[in-house]
Amino acid sequence: MDTRRKAKNRLLSVGIKPSIQRMAIMEYLLAHPTHPTADTIFNDLTPTLPTLSKTTVYNTLRLLSEQGAILSISIDEKNVRYDGDIATHAHFKCKKCGCVYDLSIKGLDTVYVEGIGDLCVTECQLYYKGYCEKCKSKLT
Ligand SMILES: [Zn+2]
Ligand SMILES: [Zn+2]
Repeated sequence: MDTRRKAKNRLLSVGIKPSIQRMAIMEYLLAHPTHPTADTIFNDLTPTLPTLSKTTVYNTLRLLSEQGAILSISIDEKNVRYDGDIATHAHFKCKKCGCVYDLSIKGLDTVYVEGIGDLCVTECQLYYKGYCEKCKSKLT
C-alpha cells in the first residue's frame, strides 16, 4: 500500500476527516520514521504547503495522537517526538546527538505487570537512553 493510501486509511479508521493538511502530516510521519518534533514537521512541510501554520501543525498532531493515529513520545525532555508507527515498540534516545531509534522487544505487549488490579492499560511506553553507535565511538 502506498503512503498516501495508508495515511488516508489511518485517519479514516480513527474517525478523522482527511483534510489536505492532516493528510500531509500523517503522510510525513509514515514516510519519516525518525520521530520528528512538531517544528521539524512544520519546517519540512511549509515549502510544499505554504498555507500551513505552526498552530495547525501542533493542533493536528494533538488530534492525531489523541485519536490514536500516531504516538506522541516524551523521551525527549525538551520536545515531544511523534511516531507514525503505532505498534508497541520501545525507544532509545542518544544523549549526545538526540536521535531517537526504534527498538523491537519481543513480548513487550504481553509483559505481566504485577499489582495492576483493575486498571485497564491502553498504552505502554518504554524508554532507553545512552549513546548511539556513532557517538559511542567518539567518546573515547
Ligand atoms: Zn548519537
Ligand atoms: Zn518509534
